[in-house]
Amino acid sequence: QAGNMQDWPLLVSTLVDHAARNHGRREVVSLTCEGGEHRSNWSEIRHRAMQVASALRTMGISVGDRVATLAWNTHRHVESWYGISGMGGVAHTINPRLFDDQIVYIANHAEDRVLFFDLTFVPLVERLAPRLTTIEHFVLLTDRAHMPVESPLDLLCYEDLLAAAPADEPWTIVDEKAPAGLCYTSGTTGNPKGVQYSHRSNVLHAMAACMTDTFGIGAQSAVLPIAPMYHANAWSIPYTAAACGAKLVMGGPHFDAPTLQKLIIDEDVDLALAVPTIWLGMLQHLEKHGGGLGKLERTCIGGSAVPRSMIEAFDKQGVRVMQLWGMTEMSPLGTVGTALPEVAAMGYDEQVGYRVKQGRGIYGVEMKIVGDDGAELARDGRAFGRLLVRGPWIVGSYFKGDGGNVLNAEGWFDTGDVATLCPLGYMQIVDRSKDVIKSGGEWISSIDLENAAVGAPGVAEAAVIGVPHPKWDERPLLLVREKEGATVSKQGVLDYLDGKIAKWWMPDEVLVVTDLPHTATGKLLKTELRERYKDFKFP
Ligand code: ADP
Repeated sequence: QAGNMQDWPLLVSTLVDHAARNHGRREVVSLTCEGGEHRSNWSEIRHRAMQVASALRTMGISVGDRVATLAWNTHRHVESWYGISGMGGVAHTINPRLFDDQIVYIANHAEDRVLFFDLTFVPLVERLAPRLTTIEHFVLLTDRAHMPVESPLDLLCYEDLLAAAPADEPWTIVDEKAPAGLCYTSGTTGNPKGVQYSHRSNVLHAMAACMTDTFGIGAQSAVLPIAPMYHANAWSIPYTAAACGAKLVMGGPHFDAPTLQKLIIDEDVDLALAVPTIWLGMLQHLEKHGGGLGKLERTCIGGSAVPRSMIEAFDKQGVRVMQLWGMTEMSPLGTVGTALPEVAAMGYDEQVGYRVKQGRGIYGVEMKIVGDDGAELARDGRAFGRLLVRGPWIVGSYFKGDGGNVLNAEGWFDTGDVATLCPLGYMQIVDRSKDVIKSGGEWISSIDLENAAVGAPGVAEAAVIGVPHPKWDERPLLLVREKEGATVSKQGVLDYLDGKIAKWWMPDEVLVVTDLPHTATGKLLKTELRERYKDFKFP
C-alpha cells in the first residue's frame, strides 16, 4: 500500500517554474555568438522556454521526439532545453568538437527531428546537412539581423519563431520517468552510445547538486559553468541554478582565460566549474598578467584528475578547489571533494593528500570496488579494483539498448575506472581500466604519474602511456608539452620526479612533444597516443 503523500511528478519544467516564481529577477547573463553580452533573468527564461515549447508543437514535434542542439552555453540554449523538455521532447545535446562522422552518426542514430544551432556552426551544419537524414527543421539560434543572407538550407530564425509563438500554453505533463535529455558518450572505442536522462533523474540530481557539501549554491550564488552544456549537461548547472535561484553566468563561445577572467570579475561569480585544461590556461594567464579572480571562492574541477600543483596554485589565489568525479552515464555527479571535519583538522600537506582524491560519494550514489572475481574489496585506501556504482541518476541501459545489459545482477554499473576507497569514504581513481600500465605483474597509475609530472618546472601538460616492453610487459612513456617560452629536459623532469613517485614507476623515457591529442571533452586521447607509439623502442 502506498503512503499518503501527493504524486507530484518530478518534471524538469518544475525547476524553471520555481525559478521564475521565486527568483524571477535573478539574472541569467551570457556572452553571445553575435558579440557582446545578453542580460536576462529566470522569469524571462521561462517565458521564452514556453514559446520554444509552443513553436515545437506547431512544427509537429510530439512527446518523446528528439530535438538536437549544437550550441554553446547561452541563454538561448538554456531556454531551448527547458522548452524542449517542457513540451515532452528530448533535448539532445551534440558535442560540436566531435568529428563529422561521429556527429552524423549520433544525429541519425537519435533520429533528431529538429536541430537548434549557434552561428558558429553554420558552416558545420551546412556541410553535414545532406547526411543528416532525419532532421526536418534547422533553427539558427539568433535574431533576424544575424541570419545569413544565403544558405543552401532552409534556415529558421529562432527569434522569429519565438516572436510568433504564444507563451501561455501549459507545459506538457508526462510521466516523471519519461526521457527529458540525451547525451552520447564520446566513444573513444566503437560507436558513441546514448545516455537518456529522465525528468526524474535530472530533478533528483539537481536537488542533490545544490546541497552544501555538493556544489553548495543558493539564491546568493553566481555560478559560471564553463563545462559546456553538451558535456554531461554542463554538470547540471542549468538545472541546479534554477532549483536554487542562483544567478547563472555563461561564456557563450568563449573559453579563453582573459575573457573568462573578466566575466568572473564583472559578474561577481563565486563558483565556476570546468575541466583541468581550462584552469591550467587560467593559472598560466594569472601567473603572467595577474588581475586575480574577483569574488571567486571556489572552483569545481572534474572530467580528469586534478593535479596537486593546481590545488596549491588556486589556494595561493584564495580560491578553493573542489574536485568532482562523474561520468555522462551518471548525470554526471558521483563524488565531490568536500572535507570532513577530520580532514579539515589536518595540516596543509595532509589535507591536500585528501583533496587530490576524487571525493566522497554524495547522497544518491552508492559505490563499491571489486576484484576480477567480482568480490567486494576492502575500503582501506590500499586495495584497488573496478569501481561499481548504483543510484537513481545512473544509467540503467544505453539508448536503444546499445551495448546490451550494462548492469550486473545486483544492478551495479561498471564505471570502467579502477579506484580505491578509504576508511573516510574518499574515492581515488587509480586509472581508467584501459589506461593502467601493467609492469612486471604490478600496476602503475598513469594518472598519478601525469599529476606528478605536471608539477615539474616548465611542463604545461603531461601524458603517460604504457608501451610494450620485452621484459616487463609494459613500461611507462612520459610525453610532456612545454609551457610557452620554457625549455624542458628529460633529466630535469626525472630529477623532479625522483622521490615523488615509487622508483619502479620512473618513466623509461621522457619525450618533449609540441602537441598532445585530446578527446572532444578535453581529455587526453590515450588510444591515439598508444597508436602513435605502439612501435616505440625504449633506449
Ligand atoms: P567521456 O569524456 O569519455 O565522454 P565522461 O566525461 O563521462 O566521458 O568521462 C567520465 C570519465 O572521466 C570517468 O569515468 C573518469 O575516468 C574520468 N574522470 C572524471 N572525473 C575525473 C576526476 N576528477 N579524476 C579522474 N578521472 C575523472
